[in-house]
Amino acid sequence: MYEGAVQDLIDELGRLPGVGPKSAQRIAFHLLAAESADVGRLVAALQRVQAEVRFCVTCHNVAEAEQCRICRDPRRTLDVICVVEEPKDVVAIERTREFKGRYHVLGGAISPIEGIGPDDLRVKELMTRLMDGQVTELIIATDPNLEGEATAAYLARLVGPLGLAVSRLASGLPVGGDLEYADEVTLGRAFEGRRRIDA
Ligand SMILES: [Zn+2]
Repeated sequence: MYEGAVQDLIDELGRLPGVGPKSAQRIAFHLLAAESADVGRLVAALQRVQAEVRFCVTCHNVAEAEQCRICRDPRRTLDVICVVEEPKDVVAIERTREFKGRYHVLGGAISPIEGIGPDDLRVKELMTRLMDGQVTELIIATDPNLEGEATAAYLARLVGPLGLAVSRLASGLPVGGDLEYADEVTLGRAFEGRRRIDA
């Protein structure tokens, strides 16, 4: 336990995902010793994110305008939508350069244990996008773990009556893992080898 400001900083850092008490302490002391210009840039980046970043009205990816860069890009095809859990998954798939369509960010995955159901995700918004008849293929790229699989199965059933081609990323991804941890080559292959789901 430290005094006042130092302990407050450690407490705040410790609330971040993936930062345990030891890491929080290490980061806090790193910042204490850092140049004030470096700390200033960090503070400015945090404030900018709060002030400027919002979510795309179409796909719910992070955006700095009403729509994200991908939705605004006229070179992206309108007939394929790739469904992911989080904006970080968009980044992971973009790195593979395998996908030229657009995304839909659900905001998580179905998890009965955590009390997250379809209504807590942007499923209704996805259905609305699929209704306009422009989309012919849906690629479900939820994480290769229990929640991701449950979400994929749920979505495949839900969109079944629409008659779209629905596919799931191929195996080869580390099971139980997170999409973002797959390397570009593996994720790219999983994309190419996606399998049709027949609902
Ligand atoms: Zn978007």
